[in-house]
Amino acid sequence: MSTPIYNRVALIGLGLIASSMFWAMKRGGLAGTVTGYARSEDTRKTAREIGLCDEIHDTAADAVKDADLIVLCVPVGVMGQVAADIAPALKPGATISDVGSVKREVIDAVGPHLPDNVHFIGGHPVAGTEHSGPQSGFAELFDNRFTLLVPVEGSDARAIADLRALWEGMGALVEEMDPDHHDLVLAVTSHAPHLIAYTMVGVADDLRRVTDSEVIKYSAAGFRDFTRIAASDPTMWRDVFLNNKDATLEILGRFTEELFALQRAIRTGDGDHLYDYFTRTRAIRRGIIEAGQDTDAPDFGRSKVKT
Ligand code: NAP
Repeated sequence: MSTPIYNRVALIGLGLIASSMFWAMKRGGLAGTVTGYARSEDTRKTAREIGLCDEIHDTAADAVKDADLIVLCVPVGVMGQVAADIAPALKPGATISDVGSVKREVIDAVGPHLPDNVHFIGGHPVAGTEHSGPQSGFAELFDNRFTLLVPVEGSDARAIADLRALWEGMGALVEEMDPDHHDLVLAVTSHAPHLIAYTMVGVADDLRRVTDSEVIKYSAAGFRDFTRIAASDPTMWRDVFLNNKDATLEILGRFTEELFALQRAIRTGDGDHLYDYFTRTRAIRRGIIEAGQDTDAPDFGRSKVKT
């Protein structure tokens, strides 16, 4: 086992990301003691039952006491409130980070509550599943997936290096990014696709009422993939859209223009346009596989049966 990077780490919020961090830190021997806090008694009870964290506390202030690293693993919309709650209990010299899917609004909401003698570095593991809660985490979640660190002005180099080492120890590939650039990139790669999936499943649900259960019965790979994404946590995703408004609206505007162009190509029988477009998009899938960010197995390796 390697030497721990931090003696004491506190995880605030005990869902998919926090629990995966706990198991990944344990796997790598990266932290001495890991403490945890979640809002509801139910979640804290579950965490105690499954051995999630070395100590579970009934208040966030107790959980962060003496911690060298505190990671906020709560929905984006409550990061500021949680930062205000823990601020008086933070140890001087501690590092505060978060795992929120949006960075500019989180930095603006958290920063003002923190005392000058702590280091704040935003973070975002670009890894997840549609499951949530303390039981959904697993140590391998971050393996070979990117975690983006978003330092704020004046972030301490030593604190950044330690946080980078922690994420690398948890299996992640780490890069630093500016908050606004982060929010635009993620609007393209994650936020707008989620909204489109939610919409498509919503449309199918309306149709289901017309066609009885055929949408479920004959659901093919395309629709099933949308339903997986559209099963993601409603609170988390509500907060993502409300807190990454500009970038998401910008990308959805572009998406709508492209959709109209494809609609027109279908109406006018412009097969060349459709063929060229689909050839271009196919190459993007190849790029993702070559970068090791997904499997090249048919149907994501889920089944041997072609649909
Ligand atoms: P999750 O499984 O839904 O868990 C959220 C946790 O936050 C729960 O333990 C919940 O406590 C706690 N919480 C909610 N409101 C709180 C409050 N006001 N005070 C204290 N605790 C509170 O969420 P997750 O998927 O781990 O996501 C956590 C963060 O990671 C989010 O900011 C999200 O944007 C980001 N993220 C998610 C993914 C993903 O794919 N899921 C990927 C990358 C980043 P209770 O259980 O007691 O309600």
